[in-house]
Amino acid sequence: MKKFLLATIASAGMAFTGSGLVSSVSSAEFISIGTGGPTGVYFVVGNSVCRMVHKEAAEGRSSGRKHGLRCAAPSTGGSNYNIGQIKEGELQFGVAQSDWQYHAFNGSSKWEGNKYDNLRAVFSVHPEPFQLIAGASSGIKSWDDLAGKIVNIGNPGSGQRGTMEVLMKAKGTSVGDFKQATELTSSEQVGALCDGKVDAIAYTVGVPNGAIGQAIDGCGAHFVNLNSSVEKGLVADNPFYAFATIPAGTFYKSQKEDAVTFGVMATFVSSADVSDDVVYEVVRAVFENLDDFKKLHPAFTNLDPKQMISNGLSAPLHDGAVRYYKEQGWME
Ligand code: GLU
Repeated sequence: MKKFLLATIASAGMAFTGSGLVSSVSSAEFISIGTGGPTGVYFVVGNSVCRMVHKEAAEGRSSGRKHGLRCAAPSTGGSNYNIGQIKEGELQFGVAQSDWQYHAFNGSSKWEGNKYDNLRAVFSVHPEPFQLIAGASSGIKSWDDLAGKIVNIGNPGSGQRGTMEVLMKAKGTSVGDFKQATELTSSEQVGALCDGKVDAIAYTVGVPNGAIGQAIDGCGAHFVNLNSSVEKGLVADNPFYAFATIPAGTFYKSQKEDAVTFGVMATFVSSADVSDDVVYEVVRAVFENLDDFKKLHPAFTNLDPKQMISNGLSAPLHDGAVRYYKEQGWME
């Protein structure tokens, strides 16, 4: 069975040597990276990428290998919002769930009739289990218990909203089955859960995550397993899904039982319209500093270049990324 391995063991450090001495982006150029809510892991991914880009720019100024990239990674509505804004040319990069990368590139699911051929994969980052979390006094133990409850299905544009809709369709559940379906963002939903304003929330996010910790350890919420024949069918039929286990008491000390669910990979994407030189510099900044990058969030602990250039990627790799991966001997 396909399974994601969550980052529990620190992997041995790896060192990379610099390649060319001359940067191809010599004049000033500004790039924006779409992330997710400020309490998520995407926000850390985007800002960590910018940090490495600026580090390379600063070091380049003293070593003579200058590049002119300036980077910002604002919080956004999440995966589908990011891909849409990259398509519009408003963002140059974004973080997106592997399922939405697949659907946008192939024109399927939410992206039917709106196929985005120029979407390009850059690398993948951490696994993201789809997490259904029920409030302490909600009485919810399984998916079927959501009937008649207030369920936060997430803000439009977020990855979890899209994946929740896919799961609801597969389960034969409609919003009418709930007492109410709310559309709170990832940063609003835990407060609402802990205040008893909603009974359950859904979040596709890396492990560990502070907001999930606040729900589980802070107000006694619990995971609801998602491993029935419906999820098994989704995982079997779709290359971008795999099962993941969040082990009891490991990331969240009040979590009493292992949580079993399905999930996706967080991926870093761009557009064929973004120049090869810009993508090359961004990719180079990340991989030349991967050990530093990995220290910026515990969900990054197991990142490994060989997997990052293939896992969860369905759109073609950007040519600028391929240039760097070939230089490193990671690709033929
Ligand atoms: N997976 C979520 C989304 O696509 C974002 C998770 C995060 O911010 O870390 O919207």
